[in-house]
Amino acid sequence: MAWVAQLVRGIQPMVDIVYPPRCPACGDAIADQQGLCAACWSTLEIPDGEVAEGAEVPVIAATYYNDMSRKLVLAYKHGGRIALSRLLARLIAARLPDALETAAPPLLVPVPLHRWRLWHRGFNQAALLADELAKLGKGEALVDGLIRRKRTPSLGGLGREARDRTLAGAIAVNPARAAILAGRNVVLVDDVFTSGATSRACISAIREARPISITVACFARVEAGIAPAKHRSVEDHVQL
Ligand SMILES: [Zn+2]
Repeated sequence: MAWVAQLVRGIQPMVDIVYPPRCPACGDAIADQQGLCAACWSTLEIPDGEVAEGAEVPVIAATYYNDMSRKLVLAYKHGGRIALSRLLARLIAARLPDALETAAPPLLVPVPLHRWRLWHRGFNQAALLADELAKLGKGEALVDGLIRRKRTPSLGGLGREARDRTLAGAIAVNPARAAILAGRNVVLVDDVFTSGATSRACISAIREARPISITVACFARVEAGIAPAKHRSVEDHVQL
């Protein structure tokens, strides 16, 4: 769906005249199509460290998953605000080192979406973020590095082991890309990170391809005590 982002950028001056920029979270008028209003900015919570509790690998997160970041993620994923990929990616990019400063640029690999869900939504939100991060000089996007082999049923109500079993084998390295991942620094990209079954399945699949390192980069990281109260299970939400 890169053409959509290109189209949006191409017609931006017209869009600004016909539709004055609005904050994607609250709808207030703002100066820049790509930003948030000051009030909404102030409610985003920015993590100070990189280590998420319970995560197997370092996690670089633009924000904690709270009511505001949830609102942005939902607008992006389900609300037709596909252009939000640029804003979310910019916020992630601010926390990543420039690829030029590293000996080998990292590979940016999105958490894969099943074909059925891809067809239904029209885009993989994580793949768009990986593309935007690459444009921002944070590495090389490898959007089909991981694949989903089967549609994952809802994980609601399942315990950790049952979730892992359900996802085991559902996510794999794309056989055509496995050689590219070997010996590289890999950044797993997602919109929301929870140290749950999906990320564990992605990390163990990438690990089999023998990269030098695996890091997770996400827009919003779920942290105990900060997750919004509006839904029961963060993982249920992430699966949507
Ligand atoms: Zn706002």
